[in-house]
Amino acid sequence: MNNKYNTDLLLKEANKSILFTANRPELVMEHGKGMYLWDTNGKRYLDFIGGWAVTSLGHCPEVITKALLEQSAKLVNASPTFYNVPMVEFAKLLTDNSCFEKVFFASTGAEANEGAIKLARKYGTKFLNGAFEIITATNSFHGRTLATMSATGKKKWEKLFEPKVQGFKHVPLNDSKAIQNAITSKTCSIMVEPVQGEGGVFAVEENYIRSLRELCNEKKILLLFDEVQTGIGRTGKLFAYEHFGIEPDIMTLAKGIGGGYPLAAMLTKEKFDIFEAGDQGGTYSSQPLGMSVGMAVVKEIINKNIVKNAEQQGEYIKHKLTSIANKFNLTNIRGKGLLLAFDLPVEKGSEVVNECLYRGLLINSPRPAYIRLMPPLIVTSREIDEMIEILSGVLADILK
Ligand SMILES: *Cc1c(COP(=O)(O)O)cnc(C)c1O
Repeated sequence: MNNKYNTDLLLKEANKSILFTANRPELVMEHGKGMYLWDTNGKRYLDFIGGWAVTSLGHCPEVITKALLEQSAKLVNASPTFYNVPMVEFAKLLTDNSCFEKVFFASTGAEANEGAIKLARKYGTKFLNGAFEIITATNSFHGRTLATMSATGKKKWEKLFEPKVQGFKHVPLNDSKAIQNAITSKTCSIMVEPVQGEGGVFAVEENYIRSLRELCNEKKILLLFDEVQTGIGRTGKLFAYEHFGIEPDIMTLAKGIGGGYPLAAMLTKEKFDIFEAGDQGGTYSSQPLGMSVGMAVVKEIINKNIVKNAEQQGEYIKHKLTSIANKFNLTNIRGKGLLLAFDLPVEKGSEVVNECLYRGLLINSPRPAYIRLMPPLIVTSREIDEMIEILSGVLADILK
């Protein structure tokens, strides 16, 4: 046992001094390595949440430690006024490995999406007579700033923090008619997650996304992919747009790109390099520490072909889930790569999550009947077997 910490005291202090924003379990995480996390009581958890689809290389990978140590001894921040070395190298790495030529760096997914929304509006101002409307999907998730909450198609948020940022319309995903009807002369962009993550893991259909690409070409509006959750190997391709044989005009990345370090990017084509000085920026945009971590993470993912592992282990998880599906009435096993979900026969998602936590397994329930899995991309079949064993035990007890 680990006696360095008094967990009760820490929890008491947390209750006293942490602003309430979420119901958290009565434990305190202390350290992590690879696929596992440990709390202050020394209890170990097998992590199939992965810091919320963030720790792409698992917990505390050596490449992050090394990048942080080396860069923090060299240059932490030169101010956003100047180019810095890792900023240039990282932008090259991303543009060399994607269909984009230009990158803007930020720290969070919402911030990258804000940049994308601003770029789409700039495009509307410059080329579409001031068009500013952006069409997004119902059940989508784009972040928690005011504009990205307005972009988000979440029923629960409709009346929250009014007045919303104007100019967002929501249409059902995979419904071509609905989106055609929603486009007006005021529309400047369509914004979509290639696989809805927070909404419960629902992928766009290939035909639908291809028709969106054609629609955008025809109307000269921008196709914006929010790949904050799907990007950097998560779906078994480096970027999810590669599944569909089309290219978006703008793509945002966050979560997995920093392997746990707060880092985000907005990428676009050369022809949309249209911001004027001062339109967009941020004190921490392109700060060297984040740049060197992001570069180390993305290099490792590409060089070690970890995207392939995500694809293969994703298939293995689906295979294992399918093998227990009949026994527990699990349905709709879905998703791509290591962004997966399934439905329980009853709305007991939070009970399943809590019992798994108790037995040392971290999973997520984005809706009462959905279970979502998003483990680090380095997961192996041994850990998948361990996950299935714990999950089966929990399901057997809760669904009996
Ligand atoms: C998590 C997420 C965001 C928000 O990212 P933050 O880093 O939490 O601001 C935006 N879009 C999608 C698709 C996400 O999954």
